[in-house]
Amino acid sequence: MKFFSTRGNSAPLSFSDALQQGLAPDGGLYIPETWPAFNASDFDGAQSLAQVAEILLAPFLVDDPLAPELSDIVSEAFNFLAPLRALPAAANATLSVLELHHGPTAAFKDFGARFLAACFSRLRSVEASTLNILVATSGDTGGAVAAAFHRRPHIEVTVLFPRGLVSPTQERQLTCWGDNVRSFAVEGSFDDCQRLVKAAFLDTELLAHRQLSSANSINLGRLLPQMVYYAMSSLEHWRTYQSSLNFIIPSGNLGNAAACVWTRRLGLPIGEIVLGHNANKTVPDYLISGLWRPRPSVATLASAMDVGNPSNMERLQTLWPDVDHLRQQLRAFSVTDEQIRTRIRHDYQFLGQIWCPHTAVAAEVWHQHIAQTGGNWCLVATASPAKFPEIVEPLIGVEVPVPVSLAELLDRPTHVESLSADMAALRSALMTSEG
Ligand SMILES: *Cc1c(COP(=O)(O)O)cnc(C)c1O
Repeated sequence: MKFFSTRGNSAPLSFSDALQQGLAPDGGLYIPETWPAFNASDFDGAQSLAQVAEILLAPFLVDDPLAPELSDIVSEAFNFLAPLRALPAAANATLSVLELHHGPTAAFKDFGARFLAACFSRLRSVEASTLNILVATSGDTGGAVAAAFHRRPHIEVTVLFPRGLVSPTQERQLTCWGDNVRSFAVEGSFDDCQRLVKAAFLDTELLAHRQLSSANSINLGRLLPQMVYYAMSSLEHWRTYQSSLNFIIPSGNLGNAAACVWTRRLGLPIGEIVLGHNANKTVPDYLISGLWRPRPSVATLASAMDVGNPSNMERLQTLWPDVDHLRQQLRAFSVTDEQIRTRIRHDYQFLGQIWCPHTAVAAEVWHQHIAQTGGNWCLVATASPAKFPEIVEPLIGVEVPVPVSLAELLDRPTHVESLSADMAALRSALMTSEG
């Protein structure tokens, strides 16, 4: 299997090469050249995420050097659960929540980050030179990547986050590592951090001395493993009800959305896919107007979804360049901060359910647009509310219980360096690392 660039001007690469390349040289994103076809019965007997992953991902690794290691990679990466839990629903409907926050940093980003780390560390053991993974983060990605790569030999991680613009709990998760992980509080915005990462990949002086790679959501190695929990949960539903499951996904950069769309394309029993966005409504506006108008992001309570120019739209548009066709694949709605607050308060009061601000977007979309229409629906819970106590606790008036693994992280000593938002500063910081 080869992977093509969405822009069509780079050579197709194998799975391993596409992972290490990150962004294609022509600026595009990698997508599979063909779509293997599955039936639900192909997964008969597969009961765990790792077992489903091994069947689902095998065709994508045909002829790849990592193919013989797939079984070990998925058992290492998928070593925590993604439970599907029933919720009370309206008449002629079922509702469930897919909890993707039981990994080490309590957000769904752990799936992609752990899979990428399992792949990269196997590829490194062959090369034995140090790889530096650069990641710009607005909150959850940096923590998940740091956790997944911490203390891996021959790999260094450099995390850039905007000083003062991530939540205190997120900041502690970004800075509690040390060893092979360096965390920089950048004097600037998230956009500045992203700009620095892109500039680093073009900096010839730096590239002469350091081998760089990326781990953000444009990397194919994050999208493929994210298909696994959609496959697993839709199969679980299928085995009980013999009907397909519809998903509501809190969305920002559309990585999670693209993974769900891809899973349905492979033949898994997935019905409708509905995206919930915060006030950053580039995607809902596009589906209404047919005009793609990226814009600067605005800050909201669901900050990990504050994306004004979602990168993975390029992957969706490659499959459906015509907006009418895309409309048949997806619906998308936007939710305000006030609606997020009200939904968190209401669902705690009436259901005893505590949502993180991102998951609350999906819950609000269900109540506003879906509940009356019936069908079998699943809300995707992208993070634990314990990551956002500053927002959630004042709304519900009680403390949010903290999962043990998260509490352990938050207790560790912090290591953080400052960085001004320019390439010269980043270059000298990276050149003083050991790699
Ligand atoms: C990253 C993130 C999102 C957005 O996911 P995309 O794949 O970028 O659309 C939603 N919720 C949480 C908690 C996140 O960390």
